Amino acid sequence: ATSRTAIIAGNWKMNMGPQQASSFAREIIPALGRVIQHNPSIMSILCPPSISLASVHEVLEAMPTSGVELGAQNMYYEDKGAFTGEIAPGMVKELCTTVILGHSERRMYFCESDELVNKKTLAALAYGLRPIVCLGENSEQYDSGETQSVIKAQIQQSLAGLSDEQASQIVIAYEPIWAIGTGKAATAVGAGHVIHFIRHTYASIYGESAAQAIRILYGGSVTSANIGEFMVHPDIDGGLIGGASIKDDFVEIVRISA
Ligand code: PEP
Repeated sequence: ATSRTAIIAGNWKMNMGPQQASSFAREIIPALGRVIQHNPSIMSILCPPSISLASVHEVLEAMPTSGVELGAQNMYYEDKGAFTGEIAPGMVKELCTTVILGHSERRMYFCESDELVNKKTLAALAYGLRPIVCLGENSEQYDSGETQSVIKAQIQQSLAGLSDEQASQIVIAYEPIWAIGTGKAATAVGAGHVIHFIRHTYASIYGESAAQAIRILYGGSVTSANIGEFMVHPDIDGGLIGGASIKDDFVEIVRISA
């Protein structure tokens, strides 16, 4: 919706090693490219596991006009050094335009705090990467009416300290935890309401023009059957797709969004 270029990003999660990622990428990128080339108002970003980034990058290099972009699912914030098992912003930047940060699975299973997500966000921006910063309430918080207070605190803490220029460059993904991988998507009206609140809260920190510039995506059980409802909502600028992103349905989702 609006003049903001929509984003459909696929979070492959811990699926597809280098070989499988490469063959799936060869299958979907030509089809994605055909949609994107005819619709400059849409972008598509593939986010395979970090070990498969190079193999998907190779496929993208062989199809340089596709317009499809590559993103990582996570990274550390330090430049380099003794951080066993981590990948650095500069390493991600060699292959990717984008990095997903603060996904609820990172927050839940790997104890990532808003403070850590904030450090990663600032590092991504410093390296010229586009961060997709994930926010969202869990089911207890949703049931007890705490969604807005939870989201507000996540915005204030995860997105603190951006410069004016950086403040207009980030992407936020609103992903209610109760909707992730459950087959129980939010309604477009419900998600749109929270996304409107996110933009309003963001405007109170970084001003109206930054808030109007940023893309805010919805994520949580999006498929080709429901993406259309989200995309017509004026506040929703695209989707972060989990389960459906490792199927042919992802191409259909991008096609419907274009
Ligand atoms: C996600 O992991 O970001 C996500 C939205 O997953 P799913 O689409 O499977 O609910």
